[in-house]
Amino acid sequence: MIEDIRYVDTKVVNCDGNSSHDGLVHPSIYLTIAKEGKVECPYCSRTFIYEGTRSDPHS
Ligand SMILES: [Zn+2]
Repeated sequence: MIEDIRYVDTKVVNCDGNSSHDGLVHPSIYLTIAKEGKVECPYCSRTFIYEGTRSDPHS
C-alpha cells in the first residue's frame, strides 16, 4: 500500500478520505494526534503526523 502521510499543525485533524491516493471516501471523522505525535485513519490508513512543535520555541 502506498503511504499517504499528511503533516499537520493541530492536535485534532479531520479526515473523510477525500483526495486520498486511491479515491476512497469515507464518513468524515475527527482524529486526535496520539502521544507519539501521529495518528492513522482507521478508514483510509492515511497517517497524520503532528509537526506543530517543530516551530515551538518552548520545546
Ligand atoms: Zn481517512
